[in-house]
Amino acid sequence: MHLEIGRPDFDTPTLVKEAATASLAAGRVHYGPNAGTPQLRTAIARTLAAASGPVYDPDGEVIVTIGASEAVFLAIMAFCGPGDEVLIPVPAWPAYEACVRLAGATPVFLPLDPAQGYSLDPEAVRARLTPRTRMLVVCTPHNPTGAVVDAGRLRALADVLRHTGVLVLSDEIYSELVYDGTRHVPVATVADLHMRTLTVGGFAKAYAMDGWRLGWLAAPRELATPALRIRQFTTACPPTFTQDAAVSALRDTAQERAQMRDAFAERRRAALDLLNGCTGLHIGNPAGAFYLYLTYPPHLGPGDRFARELLEEDHVAVVPGAAFDPTGAGAHSLRVSYARSVDDIREGVSRILRRIDRLSDGGRR
Ligand code: PMP
Repeated sequence: MHLEIGRPDFDTPTLVKEAATASLAAGRVHYGPNAGTPQLRTAIARTLAAASGPVYDPDGEVIVTIGASEAVFLAIMAFCGPGDEVLIPVPAWPAYEACVRLAGATPVFLPLDPAQGYSLDPEAVRARLTPRTRMLVVCTPHNPTGAVVDAGRLRALADVLRHTGVLVLSDEIYSELVYDGTRHVPVATVADLHMRTLTVGGFAKAYAMDGWRLGWLAAPRELATPALRIRQFTTACPPTFTQDAAVSALRDTAQERAQMRDAFAERRRAALDLLNGCTGLHIGNPAGAFYLYLTYPPHLGPGDRFARELLEEDHVAVVPGAAFDPTGAGAHSLRVSYARSVDDIREGVSRILRRIDRLSDGGRR
């Protein structure tokens, strides 16, 4: 049972595939502009600005990227180098640390507090700021905990950063996947944060287009321009026909996306119904994305062993927390993805709980 997976199990909406086919048939097979096609940049800017989102000029403030991964890479490479510190709240998606190290900069890990539902704590950011701090990574909704940063915390963050030159890399690839009335607040809509924020988004999660490798980086012109320069001399541009299809994804798939979001909400509920009330288990406040980050009592043994035995004996795959947390704090945690069928989730989570019961009863470790 694949509860380790970080992608939707849905197929890409048919209209999007048809748009790609039509684009190929029309001969859209050549290089395009470095920043991406104007049509897709415009569609991205429009999507971001809808519902009081941040406003970006498609001409100079939006770069279509090869997945959100390239957006993260470009933003970090453009602004961070030797001597710079980058604050990374952990647990975290591992690519932030890797890109920071590739850039020759120094990652500074900021432990997210389980007791605060793993939500970013602006005062903890303040405590780690130094004259060398160049960038803060924010991920909301968050991989791997599902935490969503609310407007109050973002306003407090703006206060903390007010007299600094710290940039914010805001990874919002899960922005459309929030549940139970939770609202996603785009970081760049908060007063004083827009001018220092590079917003990352993409098609991999809410659009079921992970294999299409498309995302975006949106930022004020002064921040977007250096990132675009790196793009120009690395990948040059994303494929043209997939960008044509992505315009259709943004414009024509509201219904499919709503159906997928509803399915994720149902799956999340199925998992939480089984997990809530299990004593000794902590899962924070997973209001978004499609992950639960379970922490179990340390006497049950390390998470990598738990995950390996769960895979080998119970045939359920999850990701050990250590993969997301270089500080060691994730040693007794597991990331469980609910981007699978409700049946798989019920059965997989039940097997996790049975293993916890067995280990607890046996006092084996
Ligand atoms: N950011 C986060 C938080 C992610 O979880 C992922 C994918 N796991 C990405 C970025 C990368 O997305 P893409 O496939 O668009 O490169």
